[in-house]
Amino acid sequence: MARLAQTAGLTDVQQEILSTVRDFVDKEIIPVATELEHRDEYPQAIVDGLKELGLFGLMIPEEYGGLGESLLTYALCVEEIARGWMSVSGIINTHFIVAYMLKQHGTQEQKDHFLPRMAAGDIRGAFSMSEPGLGSDVSAITSKAVKDGDEYVLNGQKMWLTNGGTSSLVAVLVRSDEGHPEGTAPHKSMTTFLVEKEPGFGEVRPGLTIPGKIDKMGYKGVDTTELIMDGLRVPADRVLGGVTGRGFYQMMDGVEVGRVNVAARGCGVAQRAFELGVQYAQQRHTFGKAIAQHQAIQFKLAEMATKVEAAHAMMVNAARKKDSGERNDLEAGMAKYLASEYCKEVVEDAFRIHGGYGFSKEYEIERLYREAPMLLIGEGTAEIQKMIIGRRLLEEYRFQG
Ligand SMILES: Cc1cc2nc3c(=O)[nH]c(=O)nc-3n(C[C@H](O)[C@H](O)[C@H](O)COP(=O)(O)OP(=O)(O)OC[C@H]3O[C@@H](n4cnc5c(N)ncnc54)[C@H](O)[C@@H]3O)c2cc1C
Repeated sequence: MARLAQTAGLTDVQQEILSTVRDFVDKEIIPVATELEHRDEYPQAIVDGLKELGLFGLMIPEEYGGLGESLLTYALCVEEIARGWMSVSGIINTHFIVAYMLKQHGTQEQKDHFLPRMAAGDIRGAFSMSEPGLGSDVSAITSKAVKDGDEYVLNGQKMWLTNGGTSSLVAVLVRSDEGHPEGTAPHKSMTTFLVEKEPGFGEVRPGLTIPGKIDKMGYKGVDTTELIMDGLRVPADRVLGGVTGRGFYQMMDGVEVGRVNVAARGCGVAQRAFELGVQYAQQRHTFGKAIAQHQAIQFKLAEMATKVEAAHAMMVNAARKKDSGERNDLEAGMAKYLASEYCKEVVEDAFRIHGGYGFSKEYEIERLYREAPMLLIGEGTAEIQKMIIGRRLLEEYRFQG
């Protein structure tokens, strides 16, 4: 039925995975998403279903019990899931970034310790860079780790942790001056710590508090929290990769694949908005005909569908580039920027097509309207994407004259 957002050249295995996920989304997510979202309820049954499908281990190598799939397969699954409910894609996104960082940068002991249980969904990951005073400007991080024997003592406050409460492993980026003399560039004195904790709220480990859920306008169901470190002691072997001072690069690598994921979410939400708009436009009649027969509405549908197609193509291109082993910061930045902006526009057009009913909580588009703005901010705002894109273009097209 869906003609839009097709992907050429998929293997049989990829097609089978996607069709299973789409089926799951249609049967288990879409029918309950809006109700759960209005109650801000964690979708436990859906998460259990995703676990059973093996989605928490989709990109984790087979030797660690995962499915060893590509970033493209993962992004296409995320697109399907976000089409059902964006919050569910948020539940797997931070997990996926942490697993990816472990796979790319972890010591052998860290991989052996975490990845098999992450693949099974028994350990779930969150990642934490932002603080109350900073989000875009990661180099301004103030949280600190100080070495004390075989341990580090961490102090500081973190902000906006997606899955902060439900996760049991948080990759936390802090400043660690040890071995990095004064005057070292800020990004060279940052370290990622793998912090294990109990899921839940309050003091979840001595020196580590997750105060509670932040009340958000959308993206409900999934928990977003602060994290307070007050004399938190972390063993030295929980420094990601075993060496301090590499945290900034490790996190940026994780965020780069996270950006493809956010682009995929934008594609999924925009697709759902288009589906809702095109269906409603054929049911609602004004001036003696279905509103879909008014040219102004047809033009809206045409613009929406074109944006859905374009965003999907850019997202697929960015994922394939990373899968080929090439640097994809330019493509991921462009895909994230375009897909999130188009998503907001397509959702707004679908909202307008619904007339007054779009404003009613009984209609799914109301939820999408509150969800789309999150994609403009998460994994770097539009301005930050444009900075990355602009810098990279100037590198590529250096004036030779
Ligand atoms: C629901 C939600 C979930 C999140 N989950 C996580 C998470 O799991 N982990 C995590 O670490 N973070 C998370 N974040 C934080 C998110 O990454 C930041 O909110 C985002 O990076 C923007 O940072 P900020 O909010 O501090 O805005 P600021 O950096 O203060 O930016 C404010 C405005 O200024 C603009 N701006 C900033 N610098 C420049 C510049 N140099 N040039 C031009 N314009 C500029 C920005 O684009 C923006 O419009 C989450 C945020 C939300 C809302």
